[in-house]
Amino acid sequence: MNETAPSRARAEIDLAALRANVRALRARASGAQLMAVVKADAYGHGALPCARAALDAGATWLGTATPQEALALRGAGIGGRIMCWLWTPGGPWREAVEADLDVSVSGMWALREAVAAATAAGRTARVQLKADTGLGRNGCQPADWPELVCAARAAEEAGALRITGLWSHFACADEPGHPSIGAQLTVFRDMVAYAEKEGVRPEVRHIANSPATLTVPDSHFDLVRTGIAMYGLSPSPELGTPADFGLRPVMTLTASTALVKEVPPGHGISYGHHYTTTTGTTLGLVPLGYADGIPRHASGRGPVLVGGAVRTVAGRVAMDQFVVDLGGDRPEPGADAVLFGPGDRGEPTAEDWAAAADTIAYEIVTRIGTRVPRIHLHAAPERD
Ligand SMILES: *Cc1c(COP(=O)(O)O)cnc(C)c1O
Repeated sequence: MNETAPSRARAEIDLAALRANVRALRARASGAQLMAVVKADAYGHGALPCARAALDAGATWLGTATPQEALALRGAGIGGRIMCWLWTPGGPWREAVEADLDVSVSGMWALREAVAAATAAGRTARVQLKADTGLGRNGCQPADWPELVCAARAAEEAGALRITGLWSHFACADEPGHPSIGAQLTVFRDMVAYAEKEGVRPEVRHIANSPATLTVPDSHFDLVRTGIAMYGLSPSPELGTPADFGLRPVMTLTASTALVKEVPPGHGISYGHHYTTTTGTTLGLVPLGYADGIPRHASGRGPVLVGGAVRTVAGRVAMDQFVVDLGGDRPEPGADAVLFGPGDRGEPTAEDWAAAADTIAYEIVTRIGTRVPRIHLHAAPERD
């Protein structure tokens, strides 16, 4: 908790909801293990408490983007399997091998660095080979796969590493029926079959992110990697609402109204005067701004529950604050201004903010800044 600003604003993180979401996702992918994706500080929810809650609810793997994120979890005493996939040359391969992380390799340079680190450490590295089955981002192209598989098998035979997984990532799983989904599955099956023919015996084969976990059962294989759905948000509004999938949003972002005051008609509001009062009215000052991750792009559009009604950001979002037109209402200074939450107390949702800012709910929660303390609720699983 940030002791210098105990009540300006807070992001409450409902860990009981997170655990229930993990259980709902496990039920949906009952033949597969579940990897809780806790990269980017668990999408802004706090990596360590979320990792612990996910493991309590039956997740058997944790996933991060960077090795530093994975090493921090291990350093905090988290045991079990942790995988990280976003490597650059000169990365902390040796630390990763010594911390028993599963590292991902997409090309020959990375395989060489993993083998060198394992040799230097006198340990066997756990390596997962990543296939680019069509996303066109990280991963090994099909044409380069035989070389990578052959070299990894040779290193495995030499005892430097164990190939623990074969995996890939979808491009358009959040667009139901998109032809690339089936095409990527076909390429993935072929690339897995090739590796297995060459003697690879992976513990886990995996390709499903949240949208695929929710809507493409054929994609579950041995493990699903869920991020956004675990935090109770739908990957996209086209797919459905969180409730449609039995999920509940985990983060509630609330500020304390810093000032309530009367202003005359014709008063310009905030930088640039992009909003002007049309009548005598009351204004509420919400002490959160783009430094806290509130998108400036939602100026004039973002919704906030204050004093029993949903108001709209009046004028520009500034670095630290924005204003809402309260239409003559006079909530007490300090009254809760709820930007988003599960939605069942009349408050907006992260999806509403995503729509207001032309983005996705992933970005809304992940960008909430470090100046906003996270308050983790229901950390103890006994009463679930
Ligand atoms: C972020 C990420 C995920 C999780 O995606 P969601 O859509 O949030 O479930 C899974 N796999 C990889 C490789 C990722 O980078």
